[in-house]
Amino acid sequence: MTVGMTVRTRIAPSPTGFLHLGTARTALYSWAYARHHGGQFVLRIEDTDVARSTQASVQQILDAMRWLGLDYDEGPVYQMQRLARYHAVVESMLAAGTAYRCWSTPEELETLREAQRARGEKTRYDGRWRPAPGKVLPPVPAGVAPVVRFANPPDGLVRWDDLVKGPIAVGNEEIDDLVILRADGVPTYNFAVVVDDWDMAITHVFRGDEHINNTPWQINIFRALGAPLPRFGHCPVILGDDGQKLSKRRGAVSVTAYEEAGYLPEAMLNYLARLGWSHGDDELFSPAQMVQWFDGSHLSRSPAQWDPAKLAWVNAHHMKQAPDARLAALAQQQLRRRGLPVDDLELLARAAALFKDRCSTVAELADWVAMIFEPVQPRDEDLAAHVGAALRPALQDLRERLAEVDWVPQAIAAAIKAVLAAHGLKMPQLAPALRVLVCGRTQTPSIDAVLALFPRATVRSRLPAS
Ligand code: GLU
Repeated sequence: MTVGMTVRTRIAPSPTGFLHLGTARTALYSWAYARHHGGQFVLRIEDTDVARSTQASVQQILDAMRWLGLDYDEGPVYQMQRLARYHAVVESMLAAGTAYRCWSTPEELETLREAQRARGEKTRYDGRWRPAPGKVLPPVPAGVAPVVRFANPPDGLVRWDDLVKGPIAVGNEEIDDLVILRADGVPTYNFAVVVDDWDMAITHVFRGDEHINNTPWQINIFRALGAPLPRFGHCPVILGDDGQKLSKRRGAVSVTAYEEAGYLPEAMLNYLARLGWSHGDDELFSPAQMVQWFDGSHLSRSPAQWDPAKLAWVNAHHMKQAPDARLAALAQQQLRRRGLPVDDLELLARAAALFKDRCSTVAELADWVAMIFEPVQPRDEDLAAHVGAALRPALQDLRERLAEVDWVPQAIAAAIKAVLAAHGLKMPQLAPALRVLVCGRTQTPSIDAVLALFPRATVRSRLPAS
């Protein structure tokens, strides 16, 4: 990094769907890199695909960024609000001869491509409208609105030192004169992205490696504009657990789906960070630690594989660290979504304290809480194994005693002890029966603490009456 330079990064999602996990990861890298260097992070909405961009998608992107806590210093900047700027830059390029108008019709270009394919050549624009000294251009056809093309340098190499992949060189003869302004006056991605990265003084671009083929064009356009080049880092794709590229058809790929499934944003960031970056052997860390560590090194060149089990493990760790009051509020949202409104946040916090060590997600915490409010359905085999007829008198006795005791764990524990003594039983005989009948499960934390979470009447109603 150049001394004295302010690091400025951006994430530039297209609002044509939800925020993908891959985009969330590059957003995280861009954010962490800016924060690490005390720089700025910008959110830009690349909405030039007018037919596919939607306001709902913009909202999803904003929600996902907020949920993840990836705060931006500028934006959202919308490309469609910057058309006048792109037009001005196009005019300056036309004047400078680094761009030219092209009147080729789609049909004409298709014929050209067919001929190239027939000759076994790579399909590319042949430069028929590109001005050159002494060249006679075709007559301008009537009724055809022209596009504007970039006059790509005809030869030489485009080189850059990729932050992820290292040095890359592409020959200019590989790439053609791409359209920068469509006939309807809307710029194409490769052009708008350059004008924006230039205007926003972006110094470092992290993005998915599906864009690596675009970068030579972009570098050439930066050069044609006399604009300073950012550093580029192209992160490898994220593969699904089946080894295929993550896609809508292969499992959930939207960030907000993970919020709904009960994952914590800091766990998501932790997990996403490790999909393509490492800091020694550290697997579990906070966003603040990542900011401290993320200096753009140790980015992986090979594709990472999405591993739901590891994400659950990371989330479980962050659940343990999370304050009970926060988990209570999140569990409340989960329960509300299930049509189970629970107003008692104090109860939810006690439940969080008791169960969070056993939960991979807030959804699992909500499952625990749901047993308090909804009837439980013990499995037949659990009833057969743990609730034998011989226990019935003891369970009836406990039901009676629980009518009287203070409704706190100590008093409930004392009542259970008294029942054990009176019936000559041991805790490992009675506790499983209580768990199965009251909680519908065979495993719970300390049964007295668990019972104290329930209303007294609920516990008693789940035990056999005499
Ligand atoms: N709109 C592009 C995308 O969502 C941005 C690519 C870039 O970061 O340059 O893939």
